[in-house]
Amino acid sequence: MTIHNSVADLIGNTPLVRLNHVTAGVRATIAVKIEYLNPGGSSKDRIAERIIDAAERSGQLKPGGVIVEPTSGNTGVGLALVAQQRGYRTIFTLPDKVSESKRAVLRAYGAEVVVTPTDAGPGDPRSYYDVSDRLAAEIPGAFKPNQYDNPNGPLSHYYTTGPEVWEATDHKVTHFVAGIGTGGTISGTGKYLKEASDGAVKVIGADPEGSIYSALSEQDVHQYKIEGVGEDFYPKAFDRNITDAIVKVNDAEAFEMTRRLAGEEGLLVGGSSGMAVAAALKYARLYNLDEDQLVVLLLPDSGRGYLEKIFDDDWMRANGFGEVVERTSRPSLVA
Ligand code: PMP
Repeated sequence: MTIHNSVADLIGNTPLVRLNHVTAGVRATIAVKIEYLNPGGSSKDRIAERIIDAAERSGQLKPGGVIVEPTSGNTGVGLALVAQQRGYRTIFTLPDKVSESKRAVLRAYGAEVVVTPTDAGPGDPRSYYDVSDRLAAEIPGAFKPNQYDNPNGPLSHYYTTGPEVWEATDHKVTHFVAGIGTGGTISGTGKYLKEASDGAVKVIGADPEGSIYSALSEQDVHQYKIEGVGEDFYPKAFDRNITDAIVKVNDAEAFEMTRRLAGEEGLLVGGSSGMAVAAALKYARLYNLDEDQLVVLLLPDSGRGYLEKIFDDDWMRANGFGEVVERTSRPSLVA
């Protein structure tokens, strides 16, 4: 019998699959690691599990404890899922720009959601960062994971994602590509693959145009629409010594590839996944990677959370991506 004890036991061991259609003209094999097959729907399940394990070991989290974190998305789902299985309360603070459907997902997993004004920035006591700090200080038994600084984020990828990629490719992976948000995925997975290959595996970050990681000067830092990746500061979870190159991708390139992955590869994934694929293909073309090269990249989450944005033609046109809609939409049948 193969019956798992809890859904949390299904975290990790996600499959790799080759891209066959969006790769025209690229000779290297491009394989993607499908992280939406984690039980909470993203790569963030991995960090949630390790962060909670470590907090239990260190005594920061005790029976009946409360997890407080400022997050609107995948990290919240991962934390809520693992926490409920172990009997912890979760409280997430998030700005009111976060859609009602994302709040509903967190509540469905049993989390409490505190909504704060979006126009309150860091340092403002009403901001979602500051409210989470206050709650963590006031509530007895509260633990704040702080995914941007917590070393267990990158470590979860060092101990799980890295070995999975190494083994699933029979040690033949030559390049690893991932988007950079907190930097945990690329730093942990990249460190493992570099150690396992004696430095042979090249680690390539993908970054939205406007984010700090690929900015050459302060003037290059600006808003962008791709979610979950890019920053305007350097988090501790990001180890700058691991990445060999960072490829910049703009919103339109990322969203076009996101729509093509759904329409041509059968992969309904989020915008940061489209960004990572666009970056991998740019890199493979620029360096003329050949048949001997095996590029693995990580697709962090599912496209289900973006149906009202990237996959909605009206939203795309209203946000200036009309030409992407023209290139990627199939005509609908009108009865
Ligand atoms: N894509 C999405 C959708 C995410 O939520 C995240 C996490 N912020 C990332 C990519 C980047 O992962 P990391 O934080 O490990 O750099």
